[in-house]
Amino acid sequence: MTDRITCLVPGCRRTVPADQYPEGYEIVCRDHWRLVPSSLRHRYHQLRRRRRKIQRLAQKVGADLVQERTQHALITLEQLQMRNWQEIRYYFLHPDEPEGLDRFLEEAGF
Ligand SMILES: [Zn+2]
Repeated sequence: MTDRITCLVPGCRRTVPADQYPEGYEIVCRDHWRLVPSSLRHRYHQLRRRRRKIQRLAQKVGADLVQERTQHALITLEQLQMRNWQEIRYYFLHPDEPEGLDRFLEEAGF
């Protein structure tokens, strides 16, 4: 089973091929994805759209012409995506506790 990635929801046995995703990648299967609060799902797709748009524009102009501002925007978007994913993880791994930034920051040691 090392060549498969399991859905992060405890007890779920859905998997996907590991070679189709970057190392360390986590997934939520389709059935469990539907259970994610719509605000988190909306945010997930919104951030992904924004990042892809900037990446497409950056590819158009060429890597050497990508401005520092664009790189900074991509880094910021990646951080926001990571935070969003942590909130999705938290929703499933700590279902009895309230979700939110406060909990995330507490876990991160702030
Ligand atoms: Zn699942």
